[in-house]
Amino acid sequence: MIRVAVNGFGTIGRRVADAIMLQDDMYVVGIAKATPDYIARIASNKYRIFVPDQKAMREFEDKGIKVHGTVDNMVDEAEIVVDATPEGMGEKNITSYKKKRVKAVFQGGEEADVTQASFNAYSNYDSAVGKDYVRVVSCNTTGLARTISTLRDSIGVSRVYATLIRRATDQNDSKKGPINAVEPSLSFPSHHGPDLQTVIGSIPVDTVAVKVPTTLMHVHVVNVDLQKETDSSKVIDLFSKRRRIFVTSGKDGKSSTAQIMDYARELGRPRGDLFEIAVWKESINARGSRLNFVQAVHQESDVVPENVDAIRAMFELLDREDSIERTDRSLGIKGGMH
Ligand code: NAD
Repeated sequence: MIRVAVNGFGTIGRRVADAIMLQDDMYVVGIAKATPDYIARIASNKYRIFVPDQKAMREFEDKGIKVHGTVDNMVDEAEIVVDATPEGMGEKNITSYKKKRVKAVFQGGEEADVTQASFNAYSNYDSAVGKDYVRVVSCNTTGLARTISTLRDSIGVSRVYATLIRRATDQNDSKKGPINAVEPSLSFPSHHGPDLQTVIGSIPVDTVAVKVPTTLMHVHVVNVDLQKETDSSKVIDLFSKRRRIFVTSGKDGKSSTAQIMDYARELGRPRGDLFEIAVWKESINARGSRLNFVQAVHQESDVVPENVDAIRAMFELLDREDSIERTDRSLGIKGGMH
């Protein structure tokens, strides 16, 4: 059993911690959080809580939340840290992980050069094998990596063009939004293109990203130049066979992100999460070697299975297929047509 510490217990950290607890080859020794709020109070029923410093310790204890020590104490107990602290903080934390000779998985808010490898399970599992510091790419990049690597591995991809329509913020955030604006990325390509290349190789990728007033999901409009001609039914078949993608249909009433998230809640998964990337069947349109499709990404949860797989790869516990299979079984990920 690999001993995992989870540093940062917000949107991503708490989901990854719960997923780790469902595995039979790793467990959570503790979680670290900076604020003594309702999330910390609920977490203290399930996890040992650690905090950044003595001041935070007093604040947590004043609120009646039992603290087991500082982040440093927690890291001492672990073989690996999942760092899910806010964007850019992982870059600072890596120094102390290195001093303590503990491995660490970082999230997509960190720059690629902070770690030895960027990771997506389907795209480049082997790049994390045996490594000490790995970054699971962002929710958007994970979404693109899942579908593009499926096409790359079966048909070959010459070029990707993608327009990313991004949710303004997460559902539990009332500080950043929702915005009353449509905010395009003003540089071209947006950072997502180069980020995708860190996991899919040297395929040329052009991306533009536009923030819109919603909290539910991201939507990607994807155009791909394939290396061979294909037809739409073959692509539908390929996507529906990859478990972390599901092919869905507007005809079934799921014509927007509102119904897709409603469907996810009906599936009864924790927090109404949707770990899979949803691709609309009607949008899959192949003409010769040009393929178009539209997909939706649940930003709060799609990177969760990848964090589990990254840990297995870093400890060389299982190869790609076995790790993906085991993670998916534990989280109820089935793929197919929904
Ligand atoms: P968040 O703000 O929801 O959570 C951050 C957590 O870190 C909070 O629990 C906070 O209390 C804690 N924290 C703050 N300072 C700390 C400190 N000094 N020590 C320990 N913990 C501290 O952030 P998030 O959305 O979960 O993002 C975390 C990372 O995941 C970022 O790199 C982000 O870019 C990436 N990511 C976010 C999303 C998303 O949609 N939210 C999706 C994919 C990847």
